[in-house]
Amino acid sequence: MTDDCGKCEELLQGYLDRELTDEEVAQAERHLDACDYCRRRYRFEESLRTYVRTTAAERMPPGLMAKLAQLRTTDPGTYTA
Ligand SMILES: [Zn+2]
Repeated sequence: MTDDCGKCEELLQGYLDRELTDEEVAQAERHLDACDYCRRRYRFEESLRTYVRTTAAERMPPGLMAKLAQLRTTDPGTYTA
């Protein structure tokens, strides 16, 4: 861990959200390239986000689920099951 790690940690969230300027992205990538600690952190944060996105999709509002189910059963073109 180096002094740059603190700065990199600050940039990490914005980096994952694609909210950084080009210069900040370059800065973050340069550090991630050189630092095992932050690279692992980045991978962890990234997989966490993917997990949260997936879980959120599974927790759709019941109304929406019913609507989608209805669409699936009333449209003969996409009804397969
Ligand atoms: Zn680092």
